[in-house]
Amino acid sequence: MRQRAIPTPPPLPVVLAAGAHPDDIEFMMAGTLLRLKAAGCQVHYWNVLNGSMGTGRYGAREAARVRTGESRKAAALAGATFHPPLFDDLDGYYEKGRLARVASVVRRIQPNLVLLQAPHDYMEDHQNVVRLLVTALFTRGMKNMAPRPNYAPSMVDCALYHALPHGLCDALGKRVRPELYVDVSPFMAMKKEMLACHQSQASWLDASQGMRRYVETMAGFTREVGRMSKAFRHAEGWRKRSHLGFGPEAYDPLTRILGGAVKFDAIYAKEKKGGFPDFRDSSPS
Ligand SMILES: [Zn+2]
Repeated sequence: MRQRAIPTPPPLPVVLAAGAHPDDIEFMMAGTLLRLKAAGCQVHYWNVLNGSMGTGRYGAREAARVRTGESRKAAALAGATFHPPLFDDLDGYYEKGRLARVASVVRRIQPNLVLLQAPHDYMEDHQNVVRLLVTALFTRGMKNMAPRPNYAPSMVDCALYHALPHGLCDALGKRVRPELYVDVSPFMAMKKEMLACHQSQASWLDASQGMRRYVETMAGFTREVGRMSKAFRHAEGWRKRSHLGFGPEAYDPLTRILGGAVKFDAIYAKEKKGGFPDFRDSSPS
């Protein structure tokens, strides 16, 4: 009698968490990154900018050196592969040369699940870096786009998730509702430890943003998002970017991998109204 083959589960996605500055991943994404790592995913950690301006104490080169060291420590705590920053703070412009550099790193990693910052955030660096990363991912399979250094194109499925903006509000101060919540309660101790690696930021965040005790500020964000979820004590919120250009509409590895630790927001789902309409069968007019 022929035995039925046991279906092989789909492979675990390669995960990339990418932000503008050292400590951005720790504030809004690290709990989810730690969960994905615990689920067995290969995880990558990348700040595209080096933190050179986020200091009231060091010169730019020294600040970048100190802050890159702090990021490296945080990435090691998460068991993530660290990728060094490419540009100074305030120098991550959306232009062709920088795009070629960002695309090169993206093609080397070939991620399937990308955690990004919010597309509308309080700080222009965040938005510029999101745009560079989104286009680098969008062009991953384009042979006429030449990354620097060059890597061959490959069209792996890829799903992009945007974190909530810093402070949970957009640049105009309007509260942002996430599409889905990830329960990060069991990973809060490690998330705090990762953020605490950024020691140089303790006095700077207080001086520049009035953010006393920055680790507690971060925990305040996750507690508030947990309250919004009506399910979890500490949560991170995410919005899935349109699948167009990245993979099938149903490709949602974050929900597939994290299952019970994910809750969808009912109001957001209503607003999204079942996704993109299917135009394939419509007859020409
Ligand atoms: Zn930042």
